[in-house]
Amino acid sequence: MASHGLETDDWNALEREVVELFTALLRIDTTNPPGNETACALVIKDYLASNGIESTLVGELPHRQNLVARLEGARRGPTLTYMGHTDVVPSDAAEWSVPPFGGVVKDAYVWGCGATDMKNQVAAEAVALARLKRSGADFAGTVKYAATADEEVGDHCGVRWLCQNEPDALRSEYLINEGMGGLWLPVNGQRVFLLATAEKAFAQFRIRTRGRGGHASVPEKERSAVIDLARAVVALGLYDSPPIIAPFTAQFIDAVVGDAGLRARLKDARTARVAGAELRGLDAHVAALVEPLLGATFTPTLLDAGKAVNVIPTHAEACIDCRILPEMTTADTRALVAAVLDPLGIDWEFEWVDVTTPNASPAPTALSESIARVLRRDVPDAVLAPMCSGSFTDSRWVREYFPDCIAYGFAPFVAESLHAMEGGRDHEPDERIRVEDVTYQALFFERLARDLLA
Ligand SMILES: [Zn+2]
Repeated sequence: MASHGLETDDWNALEREVVELFTALLRIDTTNPPGNETACALVIKDYLASNGIESTLVGELPHRQNLVARLEGARRGPTLTYMGHTDVVPSDAAEWSVPPFGGVVKDAYVWGCGATDMKNQVAAEAVALARLKRSGADFAGTVKYAATADEEVGDHCGVRWLCQNEPDALRSEYLINEGMGGLWLPVNGQRVFLLATAEKAFAQFRIRTRGRGGHASVPEKERSAVIDLARAVVALGLYDSPPIIAPFTAQFIDAVVGDAGLRARLKDARTARVAGAELRGLDAHVAALVEPLLGATFTPTLLDAGKAVNVIPTHAEACIDCRILPEMTTADTRALVAAVLDPLGIDWEFEWVDVTTPNASPAPTALSESIARVLRRDVPDAVLAPMCSGSFTDSRWVREYFPDCIAYGFAPFVAESLHAMEGGRDHEPDERIRVEDVTYQALFFERLARDLLA
């Protein structure tokens, strides 16, 4: 019996090693804020040291340290960095069926806050590094490793800080990080694995309305800041922006949508929105990947108006989380907002909250080809689908500070599909991963380094 090319005994030993480190990390509460990532860094430091690998803690704050390590190969070659964050989002234990920081292993899963986002990958990457070292590090170039702080909330003591203060820790030709990459879905008899190569930009803004104040016993319907804001929020929240079918989007639709007719309708700007709704009815998980790529998205999130129930407020405001495609500018976005709000006949003011630029790494590259090659040894029908993610990861800092670095989000799941995981389990109660998947990820990262740095 063999599993993924390993004899059963070797697989079982690998599984024990991965699960031991992984559950040790899951048992540390690194909820951000406040973080407490140093405790995880110390566990990894011990693990690497026991495998003969030196590592260093660096960072801005004592309790929020990053761990960095490097393994030199036997001859000259490029550098591959394995990166991952150790902080997690807040969780509510009452919503979990196991303690979120228990590091529980049951029913063939490892459970815990950070089980897929992303202590799994942090542990798997460390085990890969240890296996490379133990087998003599017979590869070309360098493998770097970074377990980083403060991804979920901020940008001050984690990867951005490293880029600014310890750039050597991350400087590399190739880098692997998180970002939905590695989830797969069945399409026409093949397994299509997402490869996170790009991220949309924020164009978040605030809408403010003003009206007549007064005593709430005398309703104000003509010039009410609250009613006008409500109309603006409904209009923006239900708005479907004009579709933009960029070449990248068309390729992604080709890769993940199985039905040829539906594919064609999604790629035609005149029918894309209706086809998006059709796709949602057929497969909500695939639609959640495709629809945000059809244009700008507008999601109302924060509302603020009034101080007392019996007083009509003179102003009200809402924040809209807007994400735009690389093909769009902020001026385009501002014009879309005007096109939605001006017909309402209300007075509104506009202010940017946070604006970023989209970021991307090219594909295909030597790294994507290596990923596909290694994956196909175990999953012969695997196909990679480069995707643009609607959310941000620390890859944005790497791409900004090291423009030549090819950075992808990728950690392959082989046991469970995107559908089995209901689109993914990040930031959710009962976050969990198959023992087989996290074990395979360690093996995959070892093999990827061997293949890329052959
Ligand atoms: Zn994450």
